[in-house]
Amino acid sequence: MTAEELNEQIRHCRKCRLWQCANNAVPGEGPADASIVLVGQNPGAEEDKTGRPFVGRAGKFLNKALETNGIKREEVFITNIVKHTSPQNRKPLPDEIEACAPYLTEQIKLIKPRIVVLMGAVAWQAPRVDGVEYVETVHPSAAMRFTKMRKRFEADFSSLSTRLMAKGLRKPDKPT
Ligand code: URA
Repeated sequence: MTAEELNEQIRHCRKCRLWQCANNAVPGEGPADASIVLVGQNPGAEEDKTGRPFVGRAGKFLNKALETNGIKREEVFITNIVKHTSPQNRKPLPDEIEACAPYLTEQIKLIKPRIVVLMGAVAWQAPRVDGVEYVETVHPSAAMRFTKMRKRFEADFSSLSTRLMAKGLRKPDKPT
């Protein structure tokens, strides 16, 4: 299966109830051969409107964390474990996560990244693909709201950046 075929499947998915209240599925965006994949929970209102991941407030916060750590957003593949928004932005239910997670697994098998960053407890539930390194951090929305979470998010992105540099996956242009 190609990435475009997979995206089409995601756009027409009816495997759980969430499509009924969504305007757009959000398959994800980024290079087809990205070394890094970032995974969030599920699209919010802005993402549902545009069909793009992390373009609302949490997205702006995430962009800043990437920039601060010398990671270019356009070089990263960004997606979610659940590809449709949910009513009143509630947490996806276990059966919704179970129905949708295989799409993420397929994406990771196609992209073959070196590192997958799972952001938030819902994303942490992603089934692991052999040979790929997984890193768990908190969700950007939680990091925006709570100081303790923000400290963890910042520390995790800083150590991610250091690891990427050691692996030759990012250039030494991190601002000091
Ligand atoms: N929150 C998420 O988990 N994903 C998005 O795409 C946007 C906000």
